[in-house]
Amino acid sequence: MLQALGQQVIYHRGSEFKELLNDTAAMLQPLFGTQTASPIVLTSSGTGALEAVLANSLRPGDRVLTLDNGHWGARFGRLATSLGASVEALSSPWGGGADADALRRRLSAPDGGEFVAVLAAHNDTFTGAVTDLAAIGDVVRDTSALLVVDAVSSLGCLPIETDAWGLDLVVSASQKGLMCPPGLALVTASDKAWTRIDQVAARGEYFDLRKAREMAAQGQASFTPAVNLVRALHEALRMVHEAGIAETFARQARLGRALAAGAAHLGLSLYPDADVASPCVSVLRTPKGIDAAKIVATMRDRYGTQIAGARRSPLDGTVIRVGTMGYCQPDDIRLDVWQLAGSVQEQGQDVDVAAAIATTERELEGVPA
Ligand SMILES: *Cc1c(COP(=O)(O)O)cnc(C)c1O
Repeated sequence: MLQALGQQVIYHRGSEFKELLNDTAAMLQPLFGTQTASPIVLTSSGTGALEAVLANSLRPGDRVLTLDNGHWGARFGRLATSLGASVEALSSPWGGGADADALRRRLSAPDGGEFVAVLAAHNDTFTGAVTDLAAIGDVVRDTSALLVVDAVSSLGCLPIETDAWGLDLVVSASQKGLMCPPGLALVTASDKAWTRIDQVAARGEYFDLRKAREMAAQGQASFTPAVNLVRALHEALRMVHEAGIAETFARQARLGRALAAGAAHLGLSLYPDADVASPCVSVLRTPKGIDAAKIVATMRDRYGTQIAGARRSPLDGTVIRVGTMGYCQPDDIRLDVWQLAGSVQEQGQDVDVAAAIATTERELEGVPA
């Protein structure tokens, strides 16, 4: 992939790029779980595309319901508010998935039919909880509302079935599960979404999805795309397809589980509910007497491993977040557990490192490198 990035830049209106972009879209389709929608590649971070799908499908004053079960659902709502939508949050506890039953109740209330869109984050990268989009889709499908999904940190790591689950607008980005550098965003739109987008006929050019659709049909981007990032994405997708999509998801699940199981021996327990814990990011509670920020600092300064805390959130100081998404190997998990052990010990905590490593090894057995 690094070699793909370093190649000569090619003309973005030429036949070579056209083939590259068409291939990329074709390889993305099964990851989005769609046979009907053609993925659009935008040059932007994930947030740019989240804003783009809202700007293309909402008018000022439109009523929007955001499923607020963590950081990203709430933030998605704020994006809609910034575009003039009238946003209501349907809150459910952090650490769980969004609540499909509560959504059903809310949408069947007397004014529930007024919502133009329901916003959901698939994998909340702050709480480490995954939302059951099939259940949410079942609720939204028969309403006039669009189901708009932030899949920035899940595409490529977690199964997504856009067609089967009835997802209308799905947004992802290059730098999380797809293991590329940041800079590309990916969007799919259902027929229901396109109908809405055509009606709204939003202002603005750069993120005009109708224009992007027209250009994508010709194997082009509306404006100059990040050509070499498309090359990198193409290579990443080639790797995923070579390993097998189902195998990639299964491997991801095992890597995430192995890290969480090892960390549990170090007193670091999963923050999210176990049945919805994300395999792409392990959000771990730090025990009493252990400073989360210090663990992050030790991991960085002593071991050169970048993990995260939960700054500017209610979880600040109480959890650490360890990414296992994208380009991650069993050896990375082994190292993580060993380094986490050292970081916890440094704060005077007595932990059974051997047990942590043995459990991790057991969970990793048979996982391909
Ligand atoms: C990282 C992330 C984003 C933000 O994406 P950017 O590419 O940084 O704009 C949005 N949603 C989720 C769930 C994320 O994990």
